Amino acid sequence: MGMAGSPRKLKPERYTIANFHQEFPDDDACLDWLWRHLHAEDGATADCPKCGKPRRFHRVKARHSYSCDTCGYHLHPTANTIFEKSTTPLRLWFHAIFLLSQTRCGISAKQLQREIGVTYKTAWRMFNLIRAHLMDEDDDEPLGGEVEVDETAWGGKIRASDRSRAPTSTERRQEAMARVSARPSIFGMVERGGRVRARVVADRSMQTLEPILRENVSADAVLYTDERALYTRLGQNFAEHHRIKHKDGIYADGHVHTQTIEGFFGNVKRGLSGVQHSVSVKWLQTYVNEFAFKHNHRADGVPMFGVILRNVRKGATSAASAAGS
Ligand SMILES: [Zn+2]
Repeated sequence: MGMAGSPRKLKPERYTIANFHQEFPDDDACLDWLWRHLHAEDGATADCPKCGKPRRFHRVKARHSYSCDTCGYHLHPTANTIFEKSTTPLRLWFHAIFLLSQTRCGISAKQLQREIGVTYKTAWRMFNLIRAHLMDEDDDEPLGGEVEVDETAWGGKIRASDRSRAPTSTERRQEAMARVSARPSIFGMVERGGRVRARVVADRSMQTLEPILRENVSADAVLYTDERALYTRLGQNFAEHHRIKHKDGIYADGHVHTQTIEGFFGNVKRGLSGVQHSVSVKWLQTYVNEFAFKHNHRADGVPMFGVILRNVRKGATSAASAAGS
């Protein structure tokens, strides 16, 4: 306010399909991007493992590699990335990342199949790898300030509102409760106005939730939860703890609410129901990754496509196994 001429926060520049076609017209352009991003910023000079020093490299047209001018060593820009073992052309991978970056509410493998002309199996696998490696958590600083914490059963949530609609027979009610509790859940933690963490958990017990909460939320945070008994104990680990009494029908008492995390859960569920008929528990975390990643990078000020693409290096660490020439 006081600083004259301080730049206003700019909206992320729109990155359209036209921009994409222009920047990445073919596989070579994609390979060159990887080469510059992972090895040679100037497009020519990279550390040669064999020479043990920076050397000039040249593109080997017949192969997807670059070769040291001095010793002939080959560097493969796709090595140790999610693209490494794929027979799908690089440009289709980049196109898939572009499509994933464009939607706020998710896109299905079926849509990718139609859009880029690969089989459903390939489309599914591409999205899975992108979500798992390029959109996983890229920051380990614990959440702080005002943090809302909540869990939601996958495919349903037993809360005061659910109970009131439950069957009247006790047995049937217990059965319904057990059915929902047995489902995996998403455990979510969000800074008001900030970052979110979301983990798929097998159950909602103290043993499961406590270590995740301690690892992801700073002890000096002010915690907001609902009135579930387990939070009474969990809340003692933090500077302050406020609980909402959903049971009394009070959903938001001024500052005391969990609407931010509930809003996030709502986005995940709406997004998934729109694009996926059923998501197996095994892969649920990768879908949750996508929503958390987009939330956490919503104000980066650069197009989401670039934010995701930049993480190919991370694919490099997690997919690194038999690294060689
Ligand atoms: Zn060399």
